[in-house]
Amino acid sequence: MQKIMVCLKRVVDYNVRIRLRPDHSGVVSDGVKMSINPFDEIALEEALRLRERGLASEVFVVSIGPSDCQQQLRTGLAMGADRAVLVEEDGEVAPLTAARAFLKLVEREQPDLVLLGKQAIDDDCNQTGQMLAALWDRPQATFASKLEVNGGSATVTREVDAGLEVIEVELPAVVTADLRLNEPRYVKLPEIMKAKKKPLETLTLGGLGVEADTSLRTLAWNEPQERQKGVMVSDVPALVAALHDKGFFN
Ligand code: AMP
Repeated sequence: MQKIMVCLKRVVDYNVRIRLRPDHSGVVSDGVKMSINPFDEIALEEALRLRERGLASEVFVVSIGPSDCQQQLRTGLAMGADRAVLVEEDGEVAPLTAARAFLKLVEREQPDLVLLGKQAIDDDCNQTGQMLAALWDRPQATFASKLEVNGGSATVTREVDAGLEVIEVELPAVVTADLRLNEPRYVKLPEIMKAKKKPLETLTLGGLGVEADTSLRTLAWNEPQERQKGVMVSDVPALVAALHDKGFFN
């Protein structure tokens, strides 16, 4: 296998307690810690392990978003990616827009494997990988918890509701990473220093000729309903009575 492309999305770090902007137009991001989407970090780790086992010769990382995404791409380079591509875009990037941009890069780069996260933890869409596979007209294996590459195909174990499903896909293909695929490595200081010298190319959506998806518009963001305080009950009859009082059954 020659090249693996890995998509890294910049998201609010999963440890941050998110706050809404007063006008409900999104979440507050000023002064908030941003990170690589956790599933994308897992996707990158898998790509690096394939390269380290001699099963791929190059791993490059791609992100679409504002110029600050360079920070996450540099982290990807420090983890071990060979080079990075930033597609700069300041506005909202819907999954279809992202998939169209990734297709342009796929056409240019001809990777044998594209690895993405199963979903981004900011929009929870779980759509981009599937859309890319459809646009590219190549096989997809989503929710991967194990990935084995054997010549021109990959055997992927998928986490599905009924348990684990094992499928084989012909390469090139799209694979999306689930939580149990691996544990990403920690980045060491010398690697961070080395990453500063690795190539990072900047493109734009317009420059790539990508048409933004206008069929999806976010109207408003709202807080989830606050969880009510729980009550302790002494025994099962008290629990049944409490549920009855709350009108859960007659
Ligand atoms: P989503 O469909 O939004 O849940 O995203 C699924 C996956 O697509 C993410 O885990 C990323 O790997 C990739 N992805 C989506 N949007 C972007 C983006 N703007 N930049 C880089 N990768 C992205």
